[in-house]
Amino acid sequence: DERRILQYQITLYGDDERLVMARDITRLHQLEQMRRDFVANVSHELRTPLTVLSGYLETYSEMAEQLPPRLGRSIGQMQAQTQRMQNLVNDLLLLSRLEIDQGGKDHEPLDVTALLNSVAADARALSGHQHALTIEGDYAAQLVGSEQEVRSAVSNLVFNAVRYTPAGSAITLRWKAFGQGACIEVSDDGEGIDPVHIPRLTERFYRVDKGRSTATGGTGLGLAIVKHVLLRHDAQLQISSHPGEGALFRCVFPATRIHLPAALPRNASS
Ligand code: ADP
Repeated sequence: DERRILQYQITLYGDDERLVMARDITRLHQLEQMRRDFVANVSHELRTPLTVLSGYLETYSEMAEQLPPRLGRSIGQMQAQTQRMQNLVNDLLLLSRLEIDQGGKDHEPLDVTALLNSVAADARALSGHQHALTIEGDYAAQLVGSEQEVRSAVSNLVFNAVRYTPAGSAITLRWKAFGQGACIEVSDDGEGIDPVHIPRLTERFYRVDKGRSTATGGTGLGLAIVKHVLLRHDAQLQISSHPGEGALFRCVFPATRIHLPAALPRNASS
């Protein structure tokens, strides 16, 4: 009467022999569902108190001149830490939404170049114009996807490039034809990542250098968000990097996600 979820593994031996193994993963599935719901509920419940806290702190920080200097400084610290918690809660909530809902409902053709320009403008402001951010190419194809989700994936990649490279570094964003489909690339010429870490970078809270990442303001969820957004767009994240040689993050979208304007030859720009 109750629905079960089974996972099958079929092994073929020669032409006529098969070994079929079935595993009942219903319980595992339920636990996973409970974990997701729990994270989503906790994050949601934490939002209101954090908003109240940051509201009061804002008021106090406006009165900073009337307060003893030490108190003024602590208020600044409290604001920074509250902001960190808010970022974390927002990222947790975003991640659980990406895991819970089915993707693909509001997908329509997007102008990727415009999106890259707008993310780059935000990143320039964030970095205090200390990085050389450029957008290469003029590939005119559109991407069929969710504007909000693709924006948050690209923002995470670009903000990471800003955070993990020293001032003066070059950061390049590209949208181009790739394989049968197309890709968005974010590359930097910073210190790079040791390849041993690469397979684990998209795990929640995985960091190459724990102390450094928290100091730079990351939540530890950035690349997990990127991975989930891409999964919902049938896309894949490729990361290539070597210490001292910068890093390249490539989001590869299949042809089914690419919308070519009429009369545009496929490799008009690449
Ligand atoms: P975080 O909030 O720690 O940045 P992410 O999931 O976004 O979390 O990134 C995971 C880790 O990957 C980071 O802690 C950092 O060590 C590494 N990383 C991400 N982007 C870059 C980059 N452009 N250059 C070097 N290291 C990076």
